[in-house]
Formats: sequence, C-alpha cells, structure tokens
Amino acid sequence: MIERVNRLVAEDKGGWHYHTVTLDEIVVESGALSRVPAYIQNHGYNRVIIVADDNTARAAGNELVELLVEAGVANKQVMVKPNAIGDVVADEQTIIQVMLEIDHETTDLIVAAGSGTIHDVVRFIAYKMNKPFLSVPTAPSVDGFNSKGAPLIIRGDKITIAASSPVAIFADLDILTKAPAALVAAGFGDMLGKYTSLFDWNFGRIAAGEPHSRLAESITKDALEQCVRQAESIARRDAEGIRSLMNSLIESGLAMLILGVSHPASGAEHHLSHYWEMEYLRLGRKQLLHGAKVGVACTIISELYHRLADEGWLGQALESDPADHEAFQAIHEHREEIEAAIRAIPAPDQLKQLLRTVGGFTEPLQLGVDSELLSRSLRGAHHIRPNRFTLLRAYNKSMQPSKVMV
Ligand SMILES: [Zn+2]
Repeated sequence: MIERVNRLVAEDKGGWHYHTVTLDEIVVESGALSRVPAYIQNHGYNRVIIVADDNTARAAGNELVELLVEAGVANKQVMVKPNAIGDVVADEQTIIQVMLEIDHETTDLIVAAGSGTIHDVVRFIAYKMNKPFLSVPTAPSVDGFNSKGAPLIIRGDKITIAASSPVAIFADLDILTKAPAALVAAGFGDMLGKYTSLFDWNFGRIAAGEPHSRLAESITKDALEQCVRQAESIARRDAEGIRSLMNSLIESGLAMLILGVSHPASGAEHHLSHYWEMEYLRLGRKQLLHGAKVGVACTIISELYHRLADEGWLGQALESDPADHEAFQAIHEHREEIEAAIRAIPAPDQLKQLLRTVGGFTEPLQLGVDSELLSRSLRGAHHIRPNRFTLLRAYNKSMQPSKVMV
C-alpha cells in the first residue's frame, strides 16, 4: 500500500507538492499483533509504553504486554481513565493524565492500542515528547489512524492540532472482527461521507479555485467504492469485509497524508457532524461516534444537494456578499457540470440503505439531533471551516434560497 501510493505520488504530474508516506509498514492481517515485537526489536526500541483504555486493553493491550514480555522488551501499559460521564475523550485532562505516566528519559516508543480517541491522545503526546508512535487499532471505526492532525477538546472546544503520524500500523483482523458492531458501522459511515466530501472538494475547485488533486481524489474514490462493494461482508464482520473496510479507512487517511490537508475526506457532512459535536460538548452530553454522525450527515447533505440540482438553484443563485461574486459566476457557468456531479452522489435513500445494511444509524433523531438543532446546523455548519467553499456554504451565502426547507 505504501509503495503503491509513493509510486503514484512520484509519477503524478498534477503540480501538487505531495508529502511522501514515511510509514515503515502497514500490516492489515490476521495475527498482525504477534508481529509487533519483532518490528519493535528490529527498529531498536527497547522501552515501550502502551496506551489503552479498559476496553482496548482487553481487546489488544494486555495481549501486547504479554507478547513484549515474552520477547524481552521492557514495557508498561498506561490506562486512559474515563471522564465523569464514563467517556474516554481526547481532552486536556486525559493528555496530562497520560503524559504524567510516561517518563521521557526511559521511553523509546509509544503504542496507541485502541480507538480513534486513543490514537489522537497518543499522536499529540508523541509529537510533544518527540517520541515515535506505533498504531494498533482495535476497531475499523475512523479514517484518522494515520493522520497527522489530532482533533482535541481544549477548554470545551474541539480543535485540530498538528501532531505526528504513526511509524507503522499493525491492524490485526482477529481483533478488528471482534470489534463492537457500532464501531464497524461508524467506520463505514466515515467512508460513506466521502461521497459528499469528494463532491464538495470538486465544487470548491470549480467555484473558488480551491487546490485539487486528481490523484488524492482517485485514491479516496477507489477506497470508498471498495468499501461499498463489501457492505454485506462488512455487515457480517467477516475477515474479508473488515479487511476492506480497514484498508479503505487507511487509504483515505493516506490521501490526506500525501496532501497535508483533509479536503478529500471532509466536506459539508463533516462540518455538520462537527457542529453537532460542539453542541453536545456545550451541553455536556455523552459524545457520539464520529462515523455514526458523519454517515447520517452525509444522507442529509445528499438530500439538500439533490434538491438544489432538481430545483435549478445553481442557475439562479445570487451572492449576498460581493466577495463571492466570482464564485457565483463560476457556479452559473459550470452549472451542468456541477449538477451532473450532484446526480452522481447516491440519493439519500440509497445511502440510508447502505447504512442500514451495516447496522448504522440513518436518522438524526437516532443521534439525538432534533429538528431545531438540525436546521440550525444546516444554516451554520459552514462556519466550522471558513476556508472551505462547499456547496452548503454557497447555499447559505446566497440571497436566493431555494424552496428547500432546511
Ligand atoms: Zn471523518
């Protein structure tokens, strides 16, 4: 996977200053965990910290401790404590708690054994302590395992902070196939969101001249299609299905890694999901799985975009801010191309069917998002990433709203 992406990057003449993928290894196979000690020894790491929570220690952390002891590698498992409402969250309390248990002088490598949240905590700490980190995912739940950005909650606000990507990923199918069904459905939801994020990225290129890469687009699109083709076996959580889901998530992550930005994998559906997350943080409500929100948000954005195309909105829309004049001109000029791209996004019913297949949520109310929050988020989600020109942003910044009720 690494060689293929780096070869594509080397061959691409798209004019983008790509980053090469510097991971040593990406292993997605049955028994991958048992290969970790040899990797650690071959790279000369002698003293290892494993970061896990109660669930992920049972899934992988404890076994890794045993494997390392057998191999004679000094190690310690640091347990991330849940917060007052029982959530394991990537916030300043967790970061300090874990950092205090890692001795700078006697640590060569930090292993993230767990979910996306554990990875975000570890990637930030590893970056700040200038230590390499190794990824051992315990569920195929998110496309951020190999990301360089850590979304962290600081003083109640979610912000993405620059951090490190892992030196290697060891994703053990024996562990991943036993992951809770909700986490698998969330990973599938995060992938499904690429239908609208890829559209929005292309829309931003057309309307606002946002930098775009055909290579990153095709890597992400291939990953998405591979994952959708395997929906049935992902639902059964068999090894083949989980392998394709995990590979898709990692490939989507690699597309972001070579670009240095998240554009291919994050459009209006992610902005909507972030809006809900911020609201939940403000209200102190229990957090929902990232991919569960993204999957539902993708169906809502698909519905809005399809209606805008059906009502001919792209041909009539006028800017409310003079700064957007050129963008709206470009939208009129490229109306047919944009409408064709919208029609290529699966309709909301098709997306819901796919989500249902893997046992995921399909409706905002299942997430606790009521109609008031839904319509407020649709009007305000574009403020989450003010530098992205999504169709949702264009719609919210137009003077001529369609008849669409949001
Ligand atoms: Zn995501």
